[in-house]
Amino acid sequence: MIDQSLVKSIQENYQKTLSQIAEAAHAVGREPESVKLVVVTKKQPLFLIQAAIAAGVKIFGENYPEEAVKKMQSLGEKTTVEWHMIGHVQSRKASLVPANFALLHSLDRLKTARRLNRFSAELGRKLPVLLEFNVGGESSKHGWNASDESRWEELLPDVEEILLLENLDVQGLMTMPPFFSDAELARPYFRQLRRLRDYLRGRYPQVKWEQLSMGTSGDFHIAVEEGATIVRVGQAIVGSRPV
Ligand SMILES: *Cc1c(COP(=O)(O)O)cnc(C)c1O
Repeated sequence: MIDQSLVKSIQENYQKTLSQIAEAAHAVGREPESVKLVVVTKKQPLFLIQAAIAAGVKIFGENYPEEAVKKMQSLGEKTTVEWHMIGHVQSRKASLVPANFALLHSLDRLKTARRLNRFSAELGRKLPVLLEFNVGGESSKHGWNASDESRWEELLPDVEEILLLENLDVQGLMTMPPFFSDAELARPYFRQLRRLRDYLRGRYPQVKWEQLSMGTSGDFHIAVEEGATIVRVGQAIVGSRPV
């Protein structure tokens, strides 16, 4: 049985997040529909995902391929929700991504790109991906280091090779900025990712680069003001993660 009080609380948080997204979009003259809301459920149990589906959640973000695939299998075929992979993909788990996810937000190195390209080809599929950049330069974060704008040119060889992989469809960029308790302090990092997107767009105009995946529970409103087209919100909607 689905816990109706859990459904109600997720529904309230989900709707509140959607209206905060709309408010932030309107503040900068954007359409709210230009922003997708991904609800992050890493480490959350199956019953919570079932409640979230009942609450109207359409897109789930997961960080660990095996955990996510187990959840998908337990839910069965009847659900029509979309699954996004948002965490670091280890080489030996790479085959699970093109087989199970609609979008990979966190493509963070060339070697993984080559593997994903091969597995996608085997499935006869073109996998939509975003390139993850580490705009804060923190050693704990994945992605290409893009903190120093004067060195962006060094990113080009990897980007260029990935763009040539026939079974990957590069749709944009993703980042996870440093954590601040004051969300406003994350703004320069979101802006940096958008500027990097504009730079890459200038270099490779044949690619649309339309997606910017940025912003989490504490700072998604700032990310939307800075151009996010996808926000990844966990705790603010489904509560804190079990440890
Ligand atoms: C966990 C996670 C999120 C969501 O964070 P919350 O604080 O729960 O909103 C978003 N993006 C990535 C990459 C994550 O790992």
